[in-house]
Amino acid sequence: MSIQLFNSATRTVEPFTPLKQGEVGIYNCGPTVYDYQHIGNLYAYIAADITRRTLEYLGYQVNQVMNITDVGHLVDDADTGGQDKMAIGARREGIDPLAMAKKYAEQFMVDRRKLNIQDPHIVAKATEHVPEMIALIERLIAQSHAYAAPDGVYFDTTTFAGYGTRLNPEPPESREAGARVEVNPNKRNPFDFALWRAAKPGDLQQWDSPWGRGNPGWHIECSAMSMKYLGETFDVHTGGEDHLFPHHECEIAQSEAATGRHFVNYWMHNHFMRFDSAKMAKSSGGFFRLDDLIARGHDPLAFRMLALGVSYRKGLDFTWDSLAEAERRLSAWRSQIRDAAQRTTAEAPVQDDPIRSAFTAAISDDFNTPRALAQAEAAMKLVNSTDEPSRRRGLGLLFDMDRVLGLGLEASATATDDLAPDDERLFDERVAARADGDFKRSDELRVALEARGIKVKDTKDGARWERIAKGSAS
Ligand code: AMP
Ligand code: ZN
Repeated sequence: MSIQLFNSATRTVEPFTPLKQGEVGIYNCGPTVYDYQHIGNLYAYIAADITRRTLEYLGYQVNQVMNITDVGHLVDDADTGGQDKMAIGARREGIDPLAMAKKYAEQFMVDRRKLNIQDPHIVAKATEHVPEMIALIERLIAQSHAYAAPDGVYFDTTTFAGYGTRLNPEPPESREAGARVEVNPNKRNPFDFALWRAAKPGDLQQWDSPWGRGNPGWHIECSAMSMKYLGETFDVHTGGEDHLFPHHECEIAQSEAATGRHFVNYWMHNHFMRFDSAKMAKSSGGFFRLDDLIARGHDPLAFRMLALGVSYRKGLDFTWDSLAEAERRLSAWRSQIRDAAQRTTAEAPVQDDPIRSAFTAAISDDFNTPRALAQAEAAMKLVNSTDEPSRRRGLGLLFDMDRVLGLGLEASATATDDLAPDDERLFDERVAARADGDFKRSDELRVALEARGIKVKDTKDGARWERIAKGSAS
C-alpha cells in the first residue's frame, strides 16, 4: 500500500516515493541537551517513532538518524548577543558542558525507551562532527554563499533565491519576529545567519577553525550530519513546528547552496503539545518530565497511548484527566488481552484481514493514529468475544498492530504474575476463601485489594485481577 504524507514543503498530502526502492532515510532533529526533555519534546519523538515504525511495517528498510545538539544553539536566533544554551546549562550546574550534555542525552534515551521509542540507527553528536561542519562552511565561502566577518561566518541569504519561503508561505520580512531582528553591523543582510561564531572570552566550548577559534552555529550541524549519514539528497526530515522557521529554512538554504542539489524530499513537522494550566508554563518555573508522570503513579505507556489518540498534525492538549483516560483505556486493553491470552493463543493475521487492511489504510493516511486505534478497538472486540477463533484472530491482529503502536501489548499478555508479593498473597487468600464458600472473608479481601489498587473479577474461568487506573492526579 502506498503511503500518503503531508509534506510541509508543498503543504499538501502527497504519495510517498523513496529515492531508492524499498529504502528510506530519515533525519530527526534531536534535542538540545542543556536540560531535561519535557513531555512535549518526547511527544515529538513519539511522532517520529510512529513514522519509522509505519514505514517498517509497510516493508521499507529504514535508516534513521538523529542528532544530539551539544553545542552552539542560541536561546534566540538573532545572532545579536543571544546566549548559548549549553553555556547557560553548564554554568547553572557548575559542570563542564560535555558532562552536562552526557547526563541529559542519556536521560533522554532512557525516557525514550520507557515510551517504547526505538533507538535511531545513528545518534550523532554535534561536538563529534565539527570538522564536517567546517568543511561545509568552507564550501559555502568558496561559492560566495557565505562570508567571514569579525564575529564569525555568516550565510548570505540574498544569494539563495526564495530563502525562508520553502516551507513557509510568508517571506521572512513579513514575519512579526523578523521585523524585530536587531541589526548586527557585521551582517550584510538582517536575515543572514551565523555558520560559525568567533569565540568570546569565557566561551566554554571552542574549536580551531580557518576563521580562528570559535564554535559552530546551530543550523549547520543538522546539514552536516544529515548529509554525512544519508547523502546530499535524502527522503524524510522531521522536527517540531517551531523548526519550520528559521531552523529548517536555514538547513535548506545552506545545504542546497553548497551542493547544488535538492536537499530533502519530504518535510514532516509535528504540531506542539500544549499544557493545560498556567502552573505548567516554563516562565513560572517548570514543565513536566516523564519522571513527573511516573512519580504520580502513571505508566509511561499511558502517555504514548494519549499521544496516539490525536494526529501529530493537530498537536495535543495535555491534561491530567486525558492522561488518566488514556491509562484506563490501556489497562482495560491489557487485562482483556491477558484474560484472552490465558485461554487461547494468537494467530498471525492473514494479509487481507479486513481489520488489518483498515489499520494499514489508517496509518498509511499520513500516520492517522486515532483511526488506527479505532481498528485496534475493533480487534479488542474480537479478543473479548466468546468464540475461540475470534479471540485468536483478535490477539493476532493486536500483536501485529503493536509493531506500529508500540504499546507493549504482547508483553501484557504474559504479564500474569506481576503482582507485588503482598498483593499476590491477598489475591491467593481470596481465591481460597471463595473456594471454601467463605464469602464474607472473600469480600473483605476484595475490598482490601481494591484499596491497594487491584480490582478482582470473577470470571467463569476463575478469578482475574487488573490494576485500577489512576484517577485525575492533579
Ligand atoms: P529542542 O531541544 O528545543 O530542539 O526540542 C527538541 C524537539 O522537541 C524539537 O523537534 C522541537 O520541535 C520539539 N518540541 C519542543 N517543544 C515541543 C512541544 N511542546 N510539543 C511538541 N514538540 C516540541
Ligand atoms: Zn536540526
